[in-house]
Amino acid sequence: MKTINCREAGFDCDYTVRGETDEEVMKNGMEHAKKDHNMKEEDITPEMQQKIKGLIRSS
Ligand SMILES: [Zn+2]
Repeated sequence: MKTINCREAGFDCDYTVRGETDEEVMKNGMEHAKKDHNMKEEDITPEMQQKIKGLIRSS
């Protein structure tokens, strides 16, 4: 299981994004950001994706 703490990604949010793989947790993270933080596709820059990838934890 891979997880990202939304708070560590810079949001005031206690949500934990989960997925089986890095790709899946990133995809779920993008869905969460768009749905719950009103982010748009173009707001999620490659730089931001790199930063968020660095926050992925394995458990
Ligand atoms: Zn969140």
